[in-house]
Amino acid sequence: MTIEYEAVIGLETHIQLNTLTKIFCSCKADSWNDPPNTNICPVCTGLPGVLPVLNKAAVEKAMLLAAAMNAEIQPISYFDRKNYFYPDLPKGYQISQYNLPIARGGYLVFPMPDGTERKVTIHKMHLEEDAGKTKNDFGRRLIDFNRCGVPLVEMVTGPDLHSADEAAQYILRLRQLLRWIGVSEADMEKGHLRCDANVSIRPKGTSILNPKTEIKNVNSIVAIRESIQTEVQRQIREVQAGHPIESWTLEWDEESGILRKMRSKETEADYRYFREPDLLSLEIDEQWKNEVLSTLPELPLQRRARFVAQYGLPVYDADILTTERSLSEYYEAALSAYQGDPKRVSNWIINDLLRILNDLAISAVELKITPTYLAQIIRMVDDGTINNTTAKALLDKVQSSGKEPAAIVSEEGLAKVSDAEALERLIAQLITDNPEQVANYRKGKTGLLGWFVGQVMKQTQGKADAQLARSILEKYLAE
Ligand SMILES: [Zn+2]
Repeated sequence: MTIEYEAVIGLETHIQLNTLTKIFCSCKADSWNDPPNTNICPVCTGLPGVLPVLNKAAVEKAMLLAAAMNAEIQPISYFDRKNYFYPDLPKGYQISQYNLPIARGGYLVFPMPDGTERKVTIHKMHLEEDAGKTKNDFGRRLIDFNRCGVPLVEMVTGPDLHSADEAAQYILRLRQLLRWIGVSEADMEKGHLRCDANVSIRPKGTSILNPKTEIKNVNSIVAIRESIQTEVQRQIREVQAGHPIESWTLEWDEESGILRKMRSKETEADYRYFREPDLLSLEIDEQWKNEVLSTLPELPLQRRARFVAQYGLPVYDADILTTERSLSEYYEAALSAYQGDPKRVSNWIINDLLRILNDLAISAVELKITPTYLAQIIRMVDDGTINNTTAKALLDKVQSSGKEPAAIVSEEGLAKVSDAEALERLIAQLITDNPEQVANYRKGKTGLLGWFVGQVMKQTQGKADAQLARSILEKYLAE
């Protein structure tokens, strides 16, 4: 009998908070476009005699994240020194939290693409400072301290995920949440959201925890899925061959799709944690907590569920409309301006507006097509003022000019030609000008009707009411 295995995966994420300044000094936090070692000071480079001062904004963003992850914000927490020696850590220790972190517990319930739900528990959530960066440059080792002291939240999940797809889906939903509540840009390419995965396997149906390996620094959703998949397959092959699984630390090489063994992992005792003597304990009273949490918006998965329940949208639509908070807000504003079928507004956004957003690489708040303008365009299609083709072209015109759609329609004469008399005159002329096609039609080549309709549309620059043109043509051609 072959044993079926399941994966047991826990994820350790480091989330860079998007504060203006660093966590313990007033240096600029975002150094993405800046030369190395330009946003540094005596505090974040660990010179003797300096004192750290805690950044209130970092604490508040961590509070928002904790609440969004259903974690319990602690009334008192404190900072510890995590001691280790590494070139990118000038102080020789990292200020982190250990025994009393800012939040405890927490979980996220998220949907899988097949509609089933998964629940991931949060083991640990704490606030800490980032380290610098080192890089190899033709045999030299270079250090950039710009990232030293950038605020991070470290969040570790329980071993609750059971496939590479579940792990990837969790990170996808976490990224969506971080951007939605505005605590992090969560750009994985820029290292705003970094992920390590702990992976082990066990026979399906058992609840034992076997030795695990740790995959370091997988920094895209694709890399998470592929590296975990590769490691699970490797562990299954090892176990089936009778080899034990050793607690390796692995590094994913995205280009070759290979996991490489790294240094053996330090145990926690090696860090000699002790309380940071230069910082007071962090006290969060009810009033401050309530003030901060009152700014927490409706969360993406809640809004997704509400769109289905309140507007009768398919889950597919609700999911797309809630990918970004600004898009979901745009949808509701357009719907309230339109005062009609919610699905119709959703269709226009998903089929047409998203194309414009993608082409211009902008978000919904940057659109010149305001929600009111979109509602106006859909209304003009509904009441027969313009046809669909004109409406789609009109979207682009509004976006490039910022003008009101109704004004563009009257200025450019885009209104649909549904004046029967005008169409009849045009069609009578067409019949006179094309005796050959008329004769062929009357001999039985009725497919030519489409050609005639095409001619009418061409002469009216696509503005003719096609339905009306067709019925007038049928009448004339039958004679
Ligand atoms: Zn600094």
